[in-house]
Amino acid sequence: MTLNRRDFLKVVGGASSLALAGCAAQAPAVSSGSAAEIMPKTGRRVVVVGGGYGGTIAAKYVRMMDKSIEVVLIERNDHFVSCPFSNLYLGGLLPDLSSLTIKYDKLIANHGIKFVQAEVTGIDPAAHVVITDKGRLKYDRLIISPGIDFRTEEIKGYDAKTPEIMPHAWKAGPQTVLLRKQLEAMKDGGTVVISVPLAPFRCPPGPYERASMIAWYLKHNKPNSKVIILDANPDLVSKGALFRKGWDMHYKNIIDYRKAAKVTEIDVGKKAVLIEGLDEVRGDVVNLIPPQRAADIAVKADLVGDDKRWCPIDANTFESKKHKDIHVIGDASIAGAMPKSGYSANSEAKVCATNVVRLMNGQPVMSLSGINTCYSYIAKGEAISVAAVYAVKDGAIIAVPNSGGVSPADWSQAKTEAIYAESWLKNILTEMSS
Ligand SMILES: Cc1cc2nc3c(=O)[nH]c(=O)nc-3n(C[C@H](O)[C@H](O)[C@H](O)COP(=O)(O)OP(=O)(O)OC[C@H]3O[C@@H](n4cnc5c(N)ncnc54)[C@H](O)[C@@H]3O)c2cc1C
Repeated sequence: MTLNRRDFLKVVGGASSLALAGCAAQAPAVSSGSAAEIMPKTGRRVVVVGGGYGGTIAAKYVRMMDKSIEVVLIERNDHFVSCPFSNLYLGGLLPDLSSLTIKYDKLIANHGIKFVQAEVTGIDPAAHVVITDKGRLKYDRLIISPGIDFRTEEIKGYDAKTPEIMPHAWKAGPQTVLLRKQLEAMKDGGTVVISVPLAPFRCPPGPYERASMIAWYLKHNKPNSKVIILDANPDLVSKGALFRKGWDMHYKNIIDYRKAAKVTEIDVGKKAVLIEGLDEVRGDVVNLIPPQRAADIAVKADLVGDDKRWCPIDANTFESKKHKDIHVIGDASIAGAMPKSGYSANSEAKVCATNVVRLMNGQPVMSLSGINTCYSYIAKGEAISVAAVYAVKDGAIIAVPNSGGVSPADWSQAKTEAIYAESWLKNILTEMSS
């Protein structure tokens, strides 16, 4: 099947798209699923997989630091929806997901990045080739930031249709919209069950922010309703004291937090979840967040460690400990003390891009200096945060002692932090999309 004009435009982008479009007649024919080359490699090339929090920034920074390196960004979608702030949409504080959605046009045009909209189906580390459903691409170095997928096999009764009834909404988009619709359709006096998997998972404070935002919505729209949090962990895994304080202030009779409550089995028909060694809990709405691992492509490409979950990397370059010249950043990587957050992915992308450029130019690599802040909304206009700076010690990423902390316990900064949070989101999405 020859590429039609629309498909062709999907695989080129940025400043070079005009030049390439000009010689479209000489472009190689690419068969769906074939191993035909999408764009022949003529000079030094970095391929980036994943156009989310990590991948957009890695692609941009490689180009910003060395224009002589060609950068090809591969992403399955033509847009990206941010998980950060998607809980506010669930709480009815955002009308839709449009303010959380970015397109890639400006990013690729401003930095001369080539964009391929395709599904990456394999990586051949020995041949330095990425295989996609549109054909293959050669690279000198590959950076992947593909995010997460789920270990659903650990929940008895879970199948491909489960998320249509019990949405996870842990990748923002249609799942988030479905969960919101279920909340809107629920009767007053209903019960929302949120199940939190064992850590590590994407966004440690995320489930507790979600509970807060759903409780906010219920308090103001369906005041006889409840939120039951079934947390597989021994206690809240992030900002525990602050969340408890916020819930006490705002949602005393709404949020019922249960620790060490690991969901091991479900009955989708009954909208019931079973807790290991304990009872069955039924919900009118069940937000089942399954245990997580690195995204499928990282597992398929043998980039994960022995437990088949997360990708071991060098703490300064993010180069895979499994395969040379492949770098893994963001949620998929084992980044020591850095949490699986969008801010961490952004910070890791900058360090990784810098060191990829240095390695390609025969220069010494820099030591990681990382940063993260995670804001969580408790109520409309009230947020809390946790922040830290990260460095490498004895080969591992550690939080620099006394470099950060959490919001003051007296709630004195909660309103200011909500303003900071909004500003953070605006800045980071702008950085990713321009
Ligand atoms: C409810 C919620 C709230 C959150 N709130 C915050 C917050 O306030 N602050 C914060 O810092 N973080 C937050 N996070 C965490 C944040 O969303 C993630 O940590 C961040 O998205 C990780 O970036 P990433 O680049 O690793 O993955 P992603 O941003 O998910 O990007 C991965 C990209 O790779 C693409 N991809 C994957 N596989 C393939 C393939 N085979 N072929 C082609 N493309 C592929 C995907 O389509 C996707 O676009 C939150 C998460 C959730 C769920």
